[in-house]
Amino acid sequence: MILKQPQLQAYNGIHIAGIEGKRFDIEIQNGRFTSVAEAGSKHVETEEPQQKLWISPGIIDLHTHLAWTDFDHADQLNRDSREVEVMQAEAFAATLRTGVTTARDAGGILPSTIRHLVKYYQQPLRVQTSSEMLGAADAKGVKHLEQRLNEIYATGAGWIKIMATGGLGAPTEKVTEPNFSEEEFAFIVRHAHANHKKVLVHTWGGVTIDWSIRAGVESIEHGMFLTWDQAGRLAESGVAFVPTTSIYRIAADPKGVLALNPVICERAARAADAHATAIGYAKRAGIRLGFGTDYATPSLHGYNLQEFDTLFDYGLSRAEAWKSATQDAAEILGSGHELGRIAEGYIADAVIYAADPYQAQNAGQLRKSIISVVTGAQESDLLQIN
Ligand SMILES: [Zn+2]
Repeated sequence: MILKQPQLQAYNGIHIAGIEGKRFDIEIQNGRFTSVAEAGSKHVETEEPQQKLWISPGIIDLHTHLAWTDFDHADQLNRDSREVEVMQAEAFAATLRTGVTTARDAGGILPSTIRHLVKYYQQPLRVQTSSEMLGAADAKGVKHLEQRLNEIYATGAGWIKIMATGGLGAPTEKVTEPNFSEEEFAFIVRHAHANHKKVLVHTWGGVTIDWSIRAGVESIEHGMFLTWDQAGRLAESGVAFVPTTSIYRIAADPKGVLALNPVICERAARAADAHATAIGYAKRAGIRLGFGTDYATPSLHGYNLQEFDTLFDYGLSRAEAWKSATQDAAEILGSGHELGRIAEGYIADAVIYAADPYQAQNAGQLRKSIISVVTGAQESDLLQIN
């Protein structure tokens, strides 16, 4: 159940995920938490016969592709526009049902599409956008890049996405080669920041991680070939790391939902192995981690919680993984003052569970325990996309 912008909603004697042995009385008014107070013992008694409930902040997925309907972009071009629109609306709805209340789209969706989905489908998912990505085809010097950047700003995007290296399409030995010169890369970041845009960088590793640290981007994405030395510098710089771990494990499975060819599966398997090491480095070095899925097809939208399972397998504690999906993700978005926490004054984006989410065996069990998803956003906020 989706509870949109509740005018008045109270939860008495509810547990906050991650806080052991305490219950809280929580009140929401006009989509904001107006009171979060520890419940007195009388509440515990009166609440005992009722169902025990848990609340967590709404989950923030920092790397989605909500506009894409097919793994291969050519397949989307064969669909008619009405079909694509309905599929996009369903991607929003599925993402929200699984507890994701905010997403950063890492390329493909335009603010105008989101406005349409808010207006005609009443979608309350909060989305930050990067519109079109800058990739290898744009490595034509700073003049061309300036023109491309201005085109992206004109769409209203709040982020600039740089495809700094290849991905699953590139052979493993070439995947960390840069798509741009360092001059071009630094120009993009400088120009974006001067125009009040944030920058996220797709990089599997290599020198573009160093460039990202030097240029001071907001986040690097994937980063599985991160070295220990880079991990230390990344932590020091404050640049966030959004590893998107689960997608590579899914892509590595030839019988998985993506059912990719053996060459791609092999590349994905190597990426997944490397990720386990990179997450270990990130944890030890103290890098700010952000939760992101890179989910981009109908078979994946709505299964975003699977990212938790991979993060746990690669060594994050429950508290660390949840922080990456709530408080730290909100900080990365620049919304740490009003999103990502169950606290007075914060936007009431939250998930209500019938069981302790920190104790869930896996993403499937966690998903089934969701009773409702609360979104505090007003329609006017959702139309003000950045
Ligand atoms: Zn992506």
